[in-house]
Amino acid sequence: MLTLKFGGTSVGNPDAITQTVSVIATTKAYDQDISVVTSAMSGVTDLLVNSARAAAAGHRQPFLDAREVLFDKHLTAAREIIDSEEERAIYEQHITEQLGFFSRLCASINVLGELTPRGLDVVSGLGERMSAPLLAAALRARGVGAVWVDAAEILVTDENFGEAAPLLVPTCARVQSRLKPMMEEGITPVVTGFVAATESGIPTTLGRGGSDFSAAILGACLSADEIQICTDVNGILSADPRIVPQARTLKQLSYNEAAELAYFGAKVLHPKTLLPAIERGIPVRILNTFNPDGPSTVITKDPLKNGLVKAISAIRDLTLINVEGRGMMGVPGIAARTFRAVADVKANVLMISQASSEQSICFVVRRSRSEDVQRALETEFERELERHYIDRVRPVHDVVIVAVVGSGMRGTPGIAGRLFSALGKAGVNVIALAQGSSESNISLVISREDLTTAVRVIHQAFFQNRRVPTPQLV
Ligand code: ASP
Ligand code: MG
Repeated sequence: MLTLKFGGTSVGNPDAITQTVSVIATTKAYDQDISVVTSAMSGVTDLLVNSARAAAAGHRQPFLDAREVLFDKHLTAAREIIDSEEERAIYEQHITEQLGFFSRLCASINVLGELTPRGLDVVSGLGERMSAPLLAAALRARGVGAVWVDAAEILVTDENFGEAAPLLVPTCARVQSRLKPMMEEGITPVVTGFVAATESGIPTTLGRGGSDFSAAILGACLSADEIQICTDVNGILSADPRIVPQARTLKQLSYNEAAELAYFGAKVLHPKTLLPAIERGIPVRILNTFNPDGPSTVITKDPLKNGLVKAISAIRDLTLINVEGRGMMGVPGIAARTFRAVADVKANVLMISQASSEQSICFVVRRSRSEDVQRALETEFERELERHYIDRVRPVHDVVIVAVVGSGMRGTPGIAGRLFSALGKAGVNVIALAQGSSESNISLVISREDLTTAVRVIHQAFFQNRRVPTPQLV
């Protein structure tokens, strides 16, 4: 049994949908038991969200225009893909209803002048409710038995609108009773990704990009043999191919490595997405809808032993904040106060490092939050700054984090040496660094202009040097 998830680009236009249908049909030919999860057509969720926001800010035109654009986009696709006139009429009726609902919602938001997270979940979830029936109809047009299912009827979450958490017990019960019988009859459920509902039926969403999460939840509830995330790239690469043309698809990653990579900016999967799969030990495969027989990456429990460094990723647009001063030495509570102040302005800390001399603490936040953080710290440490226990709160803008990820680094000496000698030879200055005790990632803070060089030389040191054991690549 497999659960297949298709992202926005896989259903983004008629050709893509045709390709997706053929991937599903081929898969179904050797495994009858499949369930499908789909995202909205690409660009649709953004358009819905932006229209609702504009409506709240007093602008009606954006949602009126969006309604036309969305009508066209879905019906043009339907006309190309669905041959049966009757099926097309049913779909057209459905889209008319959904978009009518959309304009009424936006009109109310406009009148109220306010958009709550709860309201936004209703609007933003409409994209999947328009794409899933289209994909199901496209499958039927190819003779593949399929029906669309609104996940609001099966996926139960808490009330954390905008980023709701799934409640697996009631969800799995509904998945079992609703989807299993269908699948046993050979009918493939095409489930809306991203959307869900509370126990009492109030619409929620799992957060942007949440369709992967939907697929993992469904796959877990169905005890799938594999969850397949069908996207528009050949799995997960060893580095960003725009920086390193030699980057190659990784054949296998552990759950932990995938989470580290996602954290450090690789467009992989959100770590929480993997949780339902991890709990049941279900492999998650990332493959390309447009090259289904090409290379893919499977994320599983056990890391391959021969991979030292698996991949390199980077996060951009960051600021390093230094809290510096000789008077900090031996004074307990400075770190606690620092991070409480940062938390109070709801800024996320991406990396922390403190020299053991305790004369500075430095940490990394998004550039966009750096002014707030600096102000919060200057307020928090007003007295210490006055007395020069703390000399200053010093931001360094235009930095990036480069993360080198791989569980095989654990207990292997010499990795850091190789890393730093490669960077040193290339003249890249490392401003700060951190290695978690899991030893499966080393993160370096470097200046933005060193990013390309750093990633290339690290990739070369670990992947293109034949004298060292290379990770298993496709
Ligand atoms: N359509 C939603 C989004 O764009 C969910 C997804 O694509 O996974 O965020
Ligand atoms: Mg998406």
